[in-house]
Amino acid sequence: MTRDQIQALLDEQTAAYRALQDSGLKLDLTRGKPSPAQLDLSNELLTLPGDDYTDAQGTDTRNYGGLNGLLELREIFAPIMQVPVEQVVAGDNASLAMMHDNLVFALFHGVPGSEQPWGVEESVKFVCPVPGYDRHFALLEEYGIEMVPVALNEDGPDMDAVREAVKDPAVKGMWLVPTYGNPTGAVVSEAVAAELAALDTAAPDFRIFWDNAYAVHHLTEEQTKTADILGLCVASGHPDRAVIFASTSKITFAGAGVSFMGSSADNIRWYLSHLGKRTIGPDKVNQLRHARYLGSTAGVHALMDRHREILAPKFEAVVRILRERLGEYGVASWTEPKGGYFVSLDVVDGTASRVIELTREAGVAMTPAGAAFPYGDDPRDRNIRIAPSYPSPEELTIAIDVLATSVLIAAAEQALG
Ligand code: PMP
Repeated sequence: MTRDQIQALLDEQTAAYRALQDSGLKLDLTRGKPSPAQLDLSNELLTLPGDDYTDAQGTDTRNYGGLNGLLELREIFAPIMQVPVEQVVAGDNASLAMMHDNLVFALFHGVPGSEQPWGVEESVKFVCPVPGYDRHFALLEEYGIEMVPVALNEDGPDMDAVREAVKDPAVKGMWLVPTYGNPTGAVVSEAVAAELAALDTAAPDFRIFWDNAYAVHHLTEEQTKTADILGLCVASGHPDRAVIFASTSKITFAGAGVSFMGSSADNIRWYLSHLGKRTIGPDKVNQLRHARYLGSTAGVHALMDRHREILAPKFEAVVRILRERLGEYGVASWTEPKGGYFVSLDVVDGTASRVIELTREAGVAMTPAGAAFPYGDDPRDRNIRIAPSYPSPEELTIAIDVLATSVLIAAAEQALG
């Protein structure tokens, strides 16, 4: 475009922006929360388990104990996690808390195979595929674990960069969201998973924190299957390498669901031995009502189909508006995920912060620019995470329109210097 054409575009978009600003919007696209309609799907939980609070083993779920969680619920999720049921722990409402505990226990005690607690090492580092989940990075920052960013491709992390990073014995682990990653929707391929499992690492106690938060959260008919990381690790002689996490936060209630961890028998023993100091047992009443409500692994998939009916049109709307509004200008690219909770938008380098500022001033709160990068620092200041789940379809349409207008304004401003 010529300067004059860019100026004309800027004028036109600024006028549209002012009109949106004057309409007094108050919309929030910051976090991947389920919408009220999605939460309503599981309202039956609110009356369960009723008077029958004894599980299939005869346990009175109201009482203390049962550190590893109810068997009947672990049986439902073991196939989803691809871990033998004896090696699955069911916990309380946040898998993030399980990840936190794994890190803290490792820092204080080391993990099976450690020579000493991670915390007494001179430095501890984690490989962080980017863009990634901001709370993963915040956890590492909290405990002084240094982050080594590597690019996340469509089939998983850039393996050349990972191979290089793990030559450093201070690199003790890595994060990975294998299926429908937050925020790009990337799915780790079988080949990349196999390579990660077999990887020659300088640290003998290297761990992959395999956070399968979106294991069953499909947005299309295609039911992408997560690679069997535990099996691959066992097959390549690193049985303790993978620690798998999941939860029902985006299956039932985000604030009152159940979390899961699966790993080798040794890792599970290690985890429970430390967990047992922190708690006498999880909320088994919640676990029982989940087992009763979901019924079976097939029951989980059936519920996820109903979530998909609510979510898929929202994702389609986001992608359609971005295409219609931005497609012709070549100022942005975005993911079209087949599952998960986010669309990742890349705008013109150096303009993401400005875009977020513009949307905010028009009443649309977005996740801060850089949030998907360690220390909140997107070196290219170009990535924006869109969370379409919570707003109503009408609100979402307006919010994405504001976003697209802001992207065009920021790009035109930059082009004009
Ligand atoms: N992992 C990822 C990748 C997530 O996106 C989220 C939620 N945004 C979580 C974990 C949080 O899970 P939970 O609610 O089980 O703590």
